[in-house]
Amino acid sequence: MNAPEDSSRLPDASLVRLRPEILATPPYRQGKPAAADAFKLSSNENPFPPLPGVLDAIAASSNVNRYPDAAATALRERLAAQHGVTPNEVHVGSGSVALLAQFIQAAAGPGDEILYTWRSFEAYPGLVTVAGATSVQVPDTAEGRHDLDAMLAAITDRTRAVIVCSPNNPTGPVVTTDEFLRFMAAVPDTVLVLLDEAYAEFVRDESAVNGLALLGRFPNLVILRTFSKAYGLAGLRVGWAIGPEPILDAARATAIPLSVTGVAQAAAIASLDRSDELMARVDVIVERRNAVVSALRAQGWAIPETQSNFVWLATGEQTEAAADTLVEHGIVARPFVGSGIRISIGEAESVDKLLSAAEWIVQHLPSGHAARAIG
Ligand SMILES: *Cc1c(COP(=O)(O)O)cnc(C)c1O
Repeated sequence: MNAPEDSSRLPDASLVRLRPEILATPPYRQGKPAAADAFKLSSNENPFPPLPGVLDAIAASSNVNRYPDAAATALRERLAAQHGVTPNEVHVGSGSVALLAQFIQAAAGPGDEILYTWRSFEAYPGLVTVAGATSVQVPDTAEGRHDLDAMLAAITDRTRAVIVCSPNNPTGPVVTTDEFLRFMAAVPDTVLVLLDEAYAEFVRDESAVNGLALLGRFPNLVILRTFSKAYGLAGLRVGWAIGPEPILDAARATAIPLSVTGVAQAAAIASLDRSDELMARVDVIVERRNAVVSALRAQGWAIPETQSNFVWLATGEQTEAAADTLVEHGIVARPFVGSGIRISIGEAESVDKLLSAAEWIVQHLPSGHAARAIG
């Protein structure tokens, strides 16, 4: 083909017929990169660098001219043994977002509904749209909690899956075991329930649901976990699901083969070998979280009861101004315009900067603003 001679003859790519609902979907927006002297608290990453033994495992898996084990056999066997299930009841994906996409595609297509609370994880709406299905969003409570009764009431003949996110990203609260068991008792067995526990390791509330304690009890329940947050492997993309084999087989059928690299599998196994050391780091983050929450509440913030590695500031209409103030203080967080700001618990050195920015913001919020508990 000849190159076009002038710009008026450039081919018009907008003529290509694409799915309208995809064209209307914004591409994924990552948390902003932080300036060199700022703290990146926008993606709930682990502030600790990988352990030396994990780096050794990464270096040792250097045969990258070969495809990985598509079945992630060693990692699945390891997780299965740890949780008392068979390897076929474990599924591994390139991050638990990839797993969510697979389960949604396995369960739902055009005309089908996927139900979840809102506000919740920002990836859910796009995954549902890509599957061709319809999102049904049930508002969370004023405390940022799931309203499971309202979610039950929203189940219809078209509902194919319900996503329960505990602790909920971005607000922080958990679903309790009691709430979850009542919910499971009422959900039809024909509806898949995806319990997204990306932050499970940060939970210290004994009343919180723990999906791994419910294995084998429900024919329609799948638990999702990830190595990205507590285990600090966000850059390697590995997550896992545990649940009934036929449902996992359906997800495996939708997966893009060979997405979980050998490097990621090796690093995940090396991390499981070093769980004690990694969980000691999680304890540090949990302690830091609790200190940050107390300090923010003392400043007058109404902070939802977070059990994760982030806090939620319900800044409402003031969100953009508040996010700008954080940036001026060297903190890059995740603003959700018109709603609030999610701030990850990061490096120890970030805490003072965060608290002085938050102090300034609360003093400049109109009195009577919902984010101000007092004043
Ligand atoms: C971070 C997160 C995930 C997992 O992300 P991956 O890196 O893809 O494993 C899943 N669910 C929620 C709610 C999250 O916040």
